Amino acid sequence: MNHLGFKMDKVKVGSFDFTCCEGCQLQLANKESTLPDFLNLLDIRNFREISSERHNDYDIALVEGSITRSDEIDRLKAIRAQATVLIAFGSCACFGGVNNLKNRIPQDEAIREVYDGKTIDTMPSMKISDIVQVDLSIPGCPVSKEEVERIVIGVVTRSQVSLPKYPVCVDCKQKLNTCLFDLGEICLGPISRAGCDAVCPTGKTPCLGCRGPADDINFASFKQLVKDKQLSIADMREKLSFYNGFAEYLDT
Ligand code: SF4
Ligand code: SF4
Ligand code: SF4
Repeated sequence: MNHLGFKMDKVKVGSFDFTCCEGCQLQLANKESTLPDFLNLLDIRNFREISSERHNDYDIALVEGSITRSDEIDRLKAIRAQATVLIAFGSCACFGGVNNLKNRIPQDEAIREVYDGKTIDTMPSMKISDIVQVDLSIPGCPVSKEEVERIVIGVVTRSQVSLPKYPVCVDCKQKLNTCLFDLGEICLGPISRAGCDAVCPTGKTPCLGCRGPADDINFASFKQLVKDKQLSIADMREKLSFYNGFAEYLDT
């Protein structure tokens, strides 16, 4: 999936957060059974959530969050200039994520609403690839720790890395869940990329597409399904726009 130009041995990694809740970095930092093996492969040079050390000689940059301030643009460009491989991880970084909700209303109104009119340095939210070239994207809100580890290890060992191409429904059906469409709910499972183990519909919550579109989705057929079930197209669009992963389908 990529060609890499850095040396083997312990690959130097930096992890950086921009505007976000830092939940994706927290997923990685969670002390679980796989963490020691993962860290043994890497030389962590910069990762605020797990170490106070700061070095700027990393090869791989993991970038979390979206861009909502002008100073973040300069910082992101500096990270891009240093990194051989830049990985956007999390829906905020890949699509704009929940931060994109503020783009729906005028910025002045958003600031007045949330910060009671105080002066705030902010601008419309942008995904990482709006500013710099992204080599790999790992979606999810939050990301799957196992998926990030698998992909980073794949990059380090120069193996082929990929995301599941099929939709959430495949995993959901294998769990023998009752389909939420049959319970009168709109679920984005038929068009969303799998890899989360269908965690939301398994918990009786419709998928909101935090992992973005699966490969080769039939959006027209999905829309027809919503109509056939006599559900609301406006509600469908609301769900599609939640993480901003389906922006290209909103006008279709
Ligand atoms: S993708 Fe979700 S969990 Fe990750 S940083 Fe953004 S809001 Fe937080
Ligand atoms: S509940 Fe959602 S993910 Fe599960 S089968 Fe139905 S549409 Fe697909
Ligand atoms: S079911 Fe949908 S919203 Fe939930 S984690 Fe999976 S892709 Fe994201």
